[in-house]
Amino acid sequence: MAEDCLFCKIASKSIPADIIFEDDKVVAFKDIEPQAPVHILVIPKTHVPTINDLTDTSLAGHMVLTATKLASQLGINESGYRLVLNCNEEGGQTVFHIHLHILGGHQLTGMA
Ligand code: AMP
Ligand code: ZN
Repeated sequence: MAEDCLFCKIASKSIPADIIFEDDKVVAFKDIEPQAPVHILVIPKTHVPTINDLTDTSLAGHMVLTATKLASQLGINESGYRLVLNCNEEGGQTVFHIHLHILGGHQLTGMA
């Protein structure tokens, strides 16, 4: 846990979030400013500032498989969805604790 990290605080429940799934490695919660009808963030419980710092392949895989399971449970796996991991300033990262965005529930457009 990193002091002053918003997502560490969500993972440790010291600040509230709309958590939809949790296990020993990850937490998934609704994005506070949803960009699509479904907008969920999957975060590791451990503090990893950016995807450049991620060395644990099993954690990376677990985050992706958690996202695909949640997409299925949320009923968007057949219609389609997008998984996004922003990195650093030009990648649009604003919270420096990695988070996999699950976006779906309507037609997504654009890319950059
Ligand atoms: P990024 O721009 O990739 O770093 O994404 C950060 C995301 O975190 C944005 O989509 C924010 O809306 C979301 N966010 C920021 N604070 C909170 C919060 N307290 N609870 C849920 N989502 C948040
Ligand atoms: Zn953190």
